[in-house]
Amino acid sequence: MKILVANLGSTSLKWRLFQFAGGEERLLHRGGLERVNDYGAALEECLGELGRAGHVRGAADLAAVGFKTVLARGVTGCVRVTESVLEAMEAFNSVAPAHNPPYVAGIRLFARRLPGVPLVALFETAFYQWAPEAAMRYAVPESWCAAGVRRWGFHGASHKYIAERSAELMGRPDVAERVRRLYVDGGRTPVADPPLRVISCHLGGSSSITPLANGLALGNSLGMSPQSGLPQNNRVGDLDAFAVPFVMRTLGLSLEEVERQLCRQSGLLGLSGLSNDIRDLVRAAGEGHAGARLALDVFVHSARHWIGSALAQLGGADALVFTAGIGENQPELRAAICRGWEELGIELDPEKNAAVRGAEGCISTGRSRVRVWVIPTNEELVVAREVKRLLEQEAARGGAGESASAGAAGSSVN
Ligand code: AMP
Repeated sequence: MKILVANLGSTSLKWRLFQFAGGEERLLHRGGLERVNDYGAALEECLGELGRAGHVRGAADLAAVGFKTVLARGVTGCVRVTESVLEAMEAFNSVAPAHNPPYVAGIRLFARRLPGVPLVALFETAFYQWAPEAAMRYAVPESWCAAGVRRWGFHGASHKYIAERSAELMGRPDVAERVRRLYVDGGRTPVADPPLRVISCHLGGSSSITPLANGLALGNSLGMSPQSGLPQNNRVGDLDAFAVPFVMRTLGLSLEEVERQLCRQSGLLGLSGLSNDIRDLVRAAGEGHAGARLALDVFVHSARHWIGSALAQLGGADALVFTAGIGENQPELRAAICRGWEELGIELDPEKNAAVRGAEGCISTGRSRVRVWVIPTNEELVVAREVKRLLEQEAARGGAGESASAGAAGSSVN
């Protein structure tokens, strides 16, 4: 069974092709295109590359295409993409303006180009379906909550991968198995004592921190939208809600302009006035650029804030994990984040920390009570596994349908 996972950005298309056969999972191909302005042409190029590599000669070679979709009104989990699912995503376009519109447009193109191939979405919010209500609610009137103003949590595929892999590395196959079966039984797979407490730090273009108790999320630093929590590349992080009406009144900004600035000109870019890329900021800060220094300091401060929160929610930690572009590749920032935490049982080994870039490894000292890991994330694999599971469930039921956690139904877009 071959499953293509497509990652659709506003100007990029990245993909990974997996093969599942006889209990084996294999990555057959990965590729990507940047600075895309014609998505149809980009899709042709992707299919052309897969064809030339001999993996996909036609639609019949693909069991499904999976998408790591962000959020939709009333829909979560792993679902077949139907017209009503796309409409539910469009209903939340203004919550995820950098993510939902390109996904909806891209999925419609895939549907036209690959008629008959099942298109399946794993929503980033899926991982938080069992998080405690107290961690997910804002203190707003009930009518706001009913309209969707609550914490949904994001980066679900990445934090799920980290939950499973960290449990394996910590010698807890029971917890890893619970995570593997999460979307089958809602986290009811029994685990042994003591509880495994992991803090998962996904630090990249988009960043979030999640406390994991026995593999289950207790919340996430991203909230109602992917514009909260830590400062993002060019999107705002945490912000007092009253800042929005204030700048509209005092700076005379329109609502559309406020939205544009919050999701295109804020975050690390807004703070530094220079770049949304950490590599540029580290370089510029080294050369004395004050804005770059400030952006890095705010990022580190915010990461420490959210790790502290996770530590408190879990009542301590057994493992702290760094993942994604920054978490995997920036030892200096990992060191800055963990500075002075010996009393908390967190002690980085400077040599190990400097040596681990883009690879899996433990970076804490032998003395450190909390083991600190770098684990490269694999969100596409999580999507592919859930797509496979959905197809198998459908086959067992004797036809296409939607998973139990899906809230919407409708005709397929194919
Ligand atoms: P992601 O969204 O996970 O791709 O992460 C993007 C962020 O990670 C950017 O701020 C990059 O500067 C940073 N990053 C990605 N790769 C590297 C690398 N090899 N070395 C240093 N930073 C990197």
